[in-house]
Amino acid sequence: MEKLSGISASDGIILGKAIVFHAEKLAVSKYSIPNNKIAFEIARFERALADTTEEILKIREEISQRLDEEHTHILDAHLLVLEDVLLIEETMQGIEKRKLNVEYIFMEVLEKLIKNFQEMEDDYLKERVSDIRDIGRRVLRNLMGKKTSKSLRDIQEEVVVVSHDLSPSDTAQMRRDKVKGFATDIGGQTSHTAIMAKAFQIPAVVGLKHITSVVNDGDMLIIDGHHGLVIINPDKRTIRQYETTKQQFEKFTTGLRGVKELPSVTMDGKKIELAANIELPEEVPIVIANGGQGIGLYRTEFFYLNRKDLPSEEEHFQAYKKVAEEINPFSLVIRTLDIGGDKFLSPLAYPQEINPFLGCRAIRFCFERPDIFKVQLRGILRASIFGKIKMMFPMVTTLEELLHAKALVEEAKKELQKERIAFNKDIKIGTMIETPSAAMISDILAKEVDFFSIGTNDLIQYALAVDRVNEKVVSLYQPTHPGVLKLIKNVIDAGHQANVWVGMCGEMAGDPLYTIILLGLGIDELSMSPVVIPEIKKVIRSITVAEAKAVTQEALGLSTGREVEMLLRKKLKKIMPEVLV
Ligand code: PEP
Ligand code: MG
Repeated sequence: MEKLSGISASDGIILGKAIVFHAEKLAVSKYSIPNNKIAFEIARFERALADTTEEILKIREEISQRLDEEHTHILDAHLLVLEDVLLIEETMQGIEKRKLNVEYIFMEVLEKLIKNFQEMEDDYLKERVSDIRDIGRRVLRNLMGKKTSKSLRDIQEEVVVVSHDLSPSDTAQMRRDKVKGFATDIGGQTSHTAIMAKAFQIPAVVGLKHITSVVNDGDMLIIDGHHGLVIINPDKRTIRQYETTKQQFEKFTTGLRGVKELPSVTMDGKKIELAANIELPEEVPIVIANGGQGIGLYRTEFFYLNRKDLPSEEEHFQAYKKVAEEINPFSLVIRTLDIGGDKFLSPLAYPQEINPFLGCRAIRFCFERPDIFKVQLRGILRASIFGKIKMMFPMVTTLEELLHAKALVEEAKKELQKERIAFNKDIKIGTMIETPSAAMISDILAKEVDFFSIGTNDLIQYALAVDRVNEKVVSLYQPTHPGVLKLIKNVIDAGHQANVWVGMCGEMAGDPLYTIILLGLGIDELSMSPVVIPEIKKVIRSITVAEAKAVTQEALGLSTGREVEMLLRKKLKKIMPEVLV
């Protein structure tokens, strides 16, 4: 028995027989092309691109019959790679200039593109490498006249799939009735394998580093998607333990289904708004399907990624209008651009900083580039008549920043008025509270806003001086640290004193372990990844405010984050014994 630890990508537990899935290696030869065959070589390339497009469209069609639209966008991303001007032109020019065969030139161009993506700081973009590899393999296969390799569609018995990585089209084509779990060497929580595993509700662990070299076909594996663990050839005792946990989990998720339609109220009737965080407009149907009552955080920086130019005012307007209309009658909180830190914009040559999280990030960047900021503000304002749009600013640290941001909104309003373009004059404006300084002066900031949204991902990072993306200091990243709890309490109390509602949109809001203490502290709204909404709602529906307050009182008297965490774990287990924490 061997235990490997990776990153939990999709919840659930499964015991199954392993099949090790190796992506084929395509050996590409290199040979010269005579002048009179160059046009033929280019035509071969065009044919291969067309065949590959056709293949992808076919897979897309198959998937759209099995899954909702949300999941076909992975294949849309593939189609975009196929249309990539750089990839096509560089290959064609390479054939003409160097007079070499198309497979060889295409492979070189592809490798260069992959290298560029791998060097990007942005994790999301880095993970797009698997899209490019996948599509590149398909084009090469078509060029070389090879049939599609062994696919997950051919699997005949129930298995758990072990692979270095799983390409999106592999996962998309797999037989859902046969593939019961995934375990991969590489990948992170936003990798496509993770996205697909969640969509199929298949337990998955990614980032296991070398699982493909220690597992053989036929080995028995336990995939523990809750804890990011894989156990190879478990003994009888471990199997029994996991079977019990699995049954508990299944009972728990079945119970959650009924919760979706029910209101988000405590046992003594206090209503807590449960909203969702989204990055892309296409995510709205998932929010609605999970019973989300609004979008508490629309991270608009994703709008600027994966492109060579900046989004126009019209694009901003159309995207926000679409989301606002779809989520109506619930509200949509649009966060203005939060570039910097771990998010970089593709179309901008952004100067390297030694400490990007402490540098020209978010609202600071927007003040440096009011031209870019204004375009977004005008887009938001124009969309504001099509639903309940609110806007908020990221990474505010001083009152002056908040006032300056509001002044720029006023300027944008005046411009629109002059141009006789409609907008909601009373649009609600809030600020994120994600720096300790903002949390400490929240009484002052409260006088200037309609709402607060606590961004714990950054608030914890800045309060505890722990880089949120550095795995070496992960144990110091403690949402329950007494210092963090005091900051959160300060914000909620100051907000309520000034009649300002206080929400939370950091990851802490979507972890059931913290729901009780957040309720006890008096939070008004929690915004989270849409799939966790039912679980959080279940916690809310299982407790009274008085009980939550008592737990919170006890927690606030403790001295360490660990002690608070243990207390919350114990209390949560008591009110929801079936929860796995
Ligand atoms: C946060 O900091 O908690 C937050 C929600 O913003 P982001 O994760 O986008 O920085
Ligand atoms: Mg943040």
